[in-house]
Amino acid sequence: MAGAASGARPGAWTQGWWRGARIIESPNHGPRPDGLPIELVVLHSISLPPGQFGGDAVEQLFTNRLDPSAHPSFEPLRGLAVSAHFFVRRDGEVLQFVSCDRRAWHAGVSCWQGRDNCNDWSIGIELEGLEGDVFEQPQYLALATLMRALRRRYPITLVAGHEHVAPVRKRDPGPGFDWSLLQRLLRWRLTIFPASLPGGGGAP
Ligand SMILES: [Zn+2]
Repeated sequence: MAGAASGARPGAWTQGWWRGARIIESPNHGPRPDGLPIELVVLHSISLPPGQFGGDAVEQLFTNRLDPSAHPSFEPLRGLAVSAHFFVRRDGEVLQFVSCDRRAWHAGVSCWQGRDNCNDWSIGIELEGLEGDVFEQPQYLALATLMRALRRRYPITLVAGHEHVAPVRKRDPGPGFDWSLLQRLLRWRLTIFPASLPGGGGAP
């Protein structure tokens, strides 16, 4: 379904859905623990097939409609039920799959700042990209707009990559992601960001 973002006030929320995003609902979500504030944003990267941009395979994956036989790289994804709250395309378009008031399935076994189960207390944002490679300027601008809107709505105090919250298993978004640029766009204090950013506060 296409939720038009044109004319919407950026930053406006309805039951965890952001009006700046095009909505494609995923069935892959669950309740958050009662009373647990949403304090963390986890950044990821994904593209399907890896390195190919602009198709709809990521949308299909998050809505359990991906045909595993359509490409060899899809086979390991067979039967997987995953989701993220948001997907930021190369041109800056933002898609939302799960209400932020619900728990999306993006981080897996994870821990940040001594707290585990990051899915319980985080927002997951996927950037269309290849792990380790660079990202586009419109993506940083859209990401910053989205993250400002998130912080107006939720008590966000930390931002980390999947590589930081699950360092043994995951490498995304990787060294091509410019944490310093994101910090400069947001003008949030350095301690919110991971230690990969000089002066960042997160434990390595
Ligand atoms: Zn990830």
